[in-house]
Parts: sequence; C-alpha cells; structure tokens
Amino acid sequence: MVQLSKHHLLPDVNGYFGEYGGSFVPPMLQHILDEITAAYFQIRETEAFQSELKRLYQHYVGRPSPIFHAKNMSEKYGGAEIYFKREDLNHTGAHKINHTLGEALLAKHMGKATIIAETGAGQHGVALATAAALVGLKCVIYMGEVDVKKEHPNVTRMKILGAKVVTVSRGTKTLKDAVDAAFEAYLEDPVTQFYAIGSVVGPHPFPMMVRDFQSIVGYEAREQFQQMTGKLPDNLVACVGGGSNAIGLFTAFLEDEDVNIIGVEPSGISLKEGEHAATLTLGRPGVLHGFKSYLLQDDSGNPLKVYSVASGLDYPGIGPQHSFLKDIARVKYETASDYETIQAFFELSRVEGIIPALESAHAVAYAMKLAPTLSTGQTILVNLSGRGDKDIDFVAAKYGAEYHLE
Ligand SMILES: *Cc1c(COP(=O)(O)O)cnc(C)c1O
Repeated sequence: MVQLSKHHLLPDVNGYFGEYGGSFVPPMLQHILDEITAAYFQIRETEAFQSELKRLYQHYVGRPSPIFHAKNMSEKYGGAEIYFKREDLNHTGAHKINHTLGEALLAKHMGKATIIAETGAGQHGVALATAAALVGLKCVIYMGEVDVKKEHPNVTRMKILGAKVVTVSRGTKTLKDAVDAAFEAYLEDPVTQFYAIGSVVGPHPFPMMVRDFQSIVGYEAREQFQQMTGKLPDNLVACVGGGSNAIGLFTAFLEDEDVNIIGVEPSGISLKEGEHAATLTLGRPGVLHGFKSYLLQDDSGNPLKVYSVASGLDYPGIGPQHSFLKDIARVKYETASDYETIQAFFELSRVEGIIPALESAHAVAYAMKLAPTLSTGQTILVNLSGRGDKDIDFVAAKYGAEYHLE
C-alpha cells in the first residue's frame, strides 16, 4: 500500500494518480490544457483569488454548510448515529457551486469570453450558469434530450440565468453524449471558450482542480464534526457519479486511517449490462473523454450504455483518483439500487423532513443499510450532496401510486 501521507501530493506533474488520470487529447488541446494548469497553479496561490473565493463561499453560497445529526433516522436504523453534511442547503441546491465558482473565476482571469459544459441532471448546468452570471461570462450548456425532459425545471433555470442550452439528441441522449458534444464544441474553439467540467473527470488538470475546489466540504466537516462530537466520524459515505462530492468530502480524511470511507455507486435496476452505472464495481481500466480510469466498456473499449434513476450518476467512467483509491483499498466502493434509493428518498423526507436529490439518496440508502450493522456510539457522516426539488415531478409520476401521492 502506498503511503497515505502522500495523498495531498497527488496527482503527479502529468496528472496521474498511480496509473490513472493523465491527459489523452490532441496536441492542440494539450497546449491549451497546459495553459489552464499553469494559470490555475499561479492564481490559486494569490491572495486576491483566495479571498474572492472565500468571500463567495461565505456570502454567496452560504458556507459553511451545517452538519445535521439525524436523530430520528438514527433511532430508527441504528446501531450507528447518522449525520448529514448539508450541501443541499448551498445556493443552487448542491455541491457543484463549490467548483463552478472556482472554474468561472479562473476562466475570467484567463480572459475567456465563454464558459461551456455538459450537464446530466442539470445541476452542473445551473451551478455553472449561476457562476457565469455572477462573474460576467457567456455560458453554453450541452444536455441530453432525455435529461432535458426529465429535469425540465433546471433547463428553465439555466435559461433564466442567461445560459444557452443545447439539446443533444444523439446516442443515448444522456450524460455521456452531452460530454461528447461539449468536447467537440470545445475543440472548435478552445481559445475563447473555457470548458468547465462538471466533476473530477476529464484530462489533467480537471480532476485535480475540481477536487481542490470541492475539498472545502471535507475540511469544514472535519472541524465541525470534531466540535460536535469530540471525535472524527467512524464512517464517511457519499454517492459517486464522476466522484466530485465524494472526493470533496473524503480528501480531508484520507490520511485518517481509522476513518472508513465508502463511495456508493448506482446499481440501478440490476447489475445486468445497460441497467446500472456501477463503474468501479464492474468496470475495467480504459480511456474515455481524455483520461484513464475504470470504465464500463465492451471488448473493443467502447463505453457501455449505463443507467441510473439519478441522472447525475449516469456516467460510464469515474474520476481517476477514485480508481486509484479503489486499487490501494483506501476507499471501499459499494452500491445502492434504484429501489433502495427511492425508499431512502421517501424515508429521509418523511422521517427528517429533508427531500434529498436522487443522487444523494443513494448515499442515504447505503447509510440505512450500514447503520444497523454497526454498534451503538459509532458514527456515519453522509454527504447530502443536493436537494431533491428537481426530482419531485419525476418521482411523483413514476412512484406516486406506490407512495400514496395521488
Ligand atoms: C451531479 C451530482 C452528483 C454526482 O456528481 P459527483 O461528481 O459524483 O458528485 C451527486 N449529487 C448531486 C446532488 C449532483 O447534482
């Protein structure tokens, strides 16, 4: 096992976490990525950038987000006591604003005119359109047709915020194809555009940069949790799509060997091909979207069709640092199914009065399974990555009868 104290030094200069990550892009784009890396290293050391980001986190996002001790749920399911890091209370309703503000400030600093991105559930699109409006950049968002229909309130939000939304109607019409479309648009003009990726994925420096911006979640939580309980949490749980909210929580604890860390992937309808997006559970290393990581792929290396009830988890790849953390066994990766997730969605709503995003409900579902297996006095800190307002119409239409909404 590699030395845990080395985590904060990763990735290496070429963007590798062990064998994962790197940058697999055409030379012209590599040149631009090198510029972004250099600008990021330069700007993040400056007092002006740090104090502006700090000001926005505090007065715009509403940081620090609280930690809530879910006593009702703990009593019902424990064993262990369950706590939530409330990223759902951030401005725009999820953790994504933490990195879009950083990316928008960097794009502005580099003199870019337009910031572009893909979006799955629309959360990244909304967070980026918000940051673009605030910082003063044009914003173009690529979104799969399926997701445009499913997450329509977020499409309207992006448009109200002044962004242009491009519907992607090819392939699976979901996140992977939206990434492809956004990448192609970026390649046409990487000089005036800045690609603000939505998670800890893509070529170097994005997995590092997005992680750094998201790590505020864990650094806050570490201090808050110790203040509340006098100890570190025994277990951390976060859902994993690309892996940004998870690595955001995990980073501050990676060197605390007594803290169990668990990432939760969507097992969807079943673990049959096309019915899940459990990349680390069932994938193999490969290259997609300019980086090497575990990947759900066929025998020729083409990405497989993936599915999750949560659009934001619907991606055949995963952030390279998670692949590394899996291989060195520092983080365990487990799954929650659609069925368990919907149960958790209603349970958290009805027991604690918190409607979670379907993505976050995967982490809640896993915590509900884990808590009864642990002894009294143990603790679980769950990253509640976002709120479920965006999902209520979809849930009502699909599960309304079962959960007495009619
Ligand atoms: C986008 C999103 C996710 C998944 O993305 P990660 O990069 O894996 O965090 C999870 N939760 C919410 C609320 C999201 O919007």
